Amino acid sequence: MTAPLIKGWCPGAYRPMASGDGLVVRVRPWMGELTALQALSLCAVAERFGTSALEVTSRANLQIRGVSEADHGAVIDALLTAELLDADPAMEGRRNLLMTPDWQAGDVTHGLAEALLGALSHLPDLPAKFGYAIDTGTEPWLAEAPADIRLECDATGGLILVADGAGKGRAVTPKAAIPALIEMVGWFVNTGGRDAGRMARHLRATPLPADWEEIPRRVAQPPSASAHGTLVGVPFGQIDTAALRAFIDGGAVKTVRVLPGRLLLATGTALSRPDGFCAPDDPILNVHACTGAPGCPQALGPTRPLARALARTLAPGETLHVSGCTKGCAHPRAADRTYVATPSGFDLVSCGAPWDAPIARDLTPDVILKPTPQG
Ligand code: SF4
Repeated sequence: MTAPLIKGWCPGAYRPMASGDGLVVRVRPWMGELTALQALSLCAVAERFGTSALEVTSRANLQIRGVSEADHGAVIDALLTAELLDADPAMEGRRNLLMTPDWQAGDVTHGLAEALLGALSHLPDLPAKFGYAIDTGTEPWLAEAPADIRLECDATGGLILVADGAGKGRAVTPKAAIPALIEMVGWFVNTGGRDAGRMARHLRATPLPADWEEIPRRVAQPPSASAHGTLVGVPFGQIDTAALRAFIDGGAVKTVRVLPGRLLLATGTALSRPDGFCAPDDPILNVHACTGAPGCPQALGPTRPLARALARTLAPGETLHVSGCTKGCAHPRAADRTYVATPSGFDLVSCGAPWDAPIARDLTPDVILKPTPQG
């Protein structure tokens, strides 16, 4: 089968991606955070113009699906009114920034982010997916999240600048951090990094200056219970706007921060996990499944009931994808196990993508879920 086209640009709000169910409009919350009012505004936009759901992306952005071409202008206006979108489309494309979830107004992380946002318009043109992570919180929560240049803390709490793909970084002070980051961007461009597209890929062929790799990085940690709010998981990365609205309308939520790994951190007082969300360590967060039938007109069967049942069977580190057709929208790449809906069941692809050749055809859910003799 033919693999889908991998586009070399990142969709945004001004430049949405066309999908089977309409336009996908991506929203990049400022510093990864929405106020309660902004979250409610976004729910209202999705309910009026989209599918009444918000998707959480791997880069901690939010997407509205199912927007018609005719409504795109109205969606842009609504996002601008809610202060969820840059007035300048060029800036929207450059604002690929992940922040540690436990930042506080006025702290070092916040100051670094403000300085970086202020510098973005002065940077040279970079590949569309080029991004930054400011991972300077109590734990290195973003070490495995997608980013090309990282600001992190070392084991002693000192600040280091890290090129993605490098095991060590360069010591910097808070004041020198953004000038050093700009210098690293210049090095990337001047050494041909734009041809490689991403920093980690570029480093495979082009060594960094030796003194930029001196301080070891901390070992990545998965986000855990936070002193700063309530951490919840978003099964399949899809937020039902009614569930989010009910959570916020309760009155205690002040802000919602979006994290990689399909997680949200709600700040406020005395919050408990709302309906429609899961625990931050629930195995279902490791399962990919698109809308499937009946939501997507191209689906050859439902996906999420099987995905939920299979989540319980996952081995540690195993990746699982259940797709409604061979397009593989939820995870357009290889997984350890991929089930693809067919008119009479599911095809199974081992260590491949939905469009790859299956090792078994037309399996029913009963057969798929049947315990093995060892299990
Ligand atoms: S992969 Fe899923 S969401 Fe994408 S077109 Fe196929 S059925 Fe629809």
